[in-house]
Amino acid sequence: SVSVQGLCRRFGNAAALRDIDLEVRSGEFVALLGPSGSGKTTLLRILAGLEAADAGRVLIEGQDMADVPVRSRRIGFVFQHYALFRHMSVFENIAFGLRIRPRATRPPRAEIARRVTALLERVQIPELAARRPDQISGGQRQRAALARALAIEPRLLLLDEPFGALDAEVRKGLRRWLRDLHRDMGLTSIFVTHDQDEAMELADRVAVMRGGAIVQYDTPEELVEHPADAFVAGFLGEAV
Ligand code: ATP
Repeated sequence: SVSVQGLCRRFGNAAALRDIDLEVRSGEFVALLGPSGSGKTTLLRILAGLEAADAGRVLIEGQDMADVPVRSRRIGFVFQHYALFRHMSVFENIAFGLRIRPRATRPPRAEIARRVTALLERVQIPELAARRPDQISGGQRQRAALARALAIEPRLLLLDEPFGALDAEVRKGLRRWLRDLHRDMGLTSIFVTHDQDEAMELADRVAVMRGGAIVQYDTPEELVEHPADAFVAGFLGEAV
């Protein structure tokens, strides 16, 4: 499980995150949903270890992430604008996640190749191993980025609008596929989106954010039936 406790982050005078608490159970798929500027990406970047919090802590399976070097945390991420390394093949991109592991936990070469092949099968692009990112479609790129994130066997998978740049049809297909993959692999995932349909379809629970705070954290059904306030009701109603 993942436990976020009292996270705060300021940029200059502006508070991007105000005392965020969030509990994610093992195997759970949680969506962070909120308008632009509500703090979703900042929260995800702090969880990923890409940015520091001013206060608060993050525990994974009871372990304080502050005590664990970034490369040993086993947190996988797929960001819309942090997809693949352009100068590496798809295969190399996925292997990279394993090659950067600390020496003690880095698998031998043959094992890396075996795992990358299995991951390519898992994300259904086995024929694209030798291609470079600019030789495959946007949807295929995100599948490859996901395979790279999965290569480290993440204890927590973070996805920031992974389908944001894709067209509506591709996006819908990938949604269902991601949902099934999450379940089949027993992942624990946090997914950022400002698309409420996407959040409602994918997530076991949705955290609705506004102004750097979580205003409601509930199942999709509860959010629709019992919105905590007019903002949640309006936000959920707006995009229907
Ligand atoms: P979007 O959906 O547009 O990505 P978001 O919900 O992810 O928005 P954040 O990107 O987390 O929101 O931003 C939260 C607040 O923090 C915003 O007011 C933003 O302007 C501010 N902010 C984020 N990053 C920085 C930064 N590097 N420097 C200054 N302000 C920042």
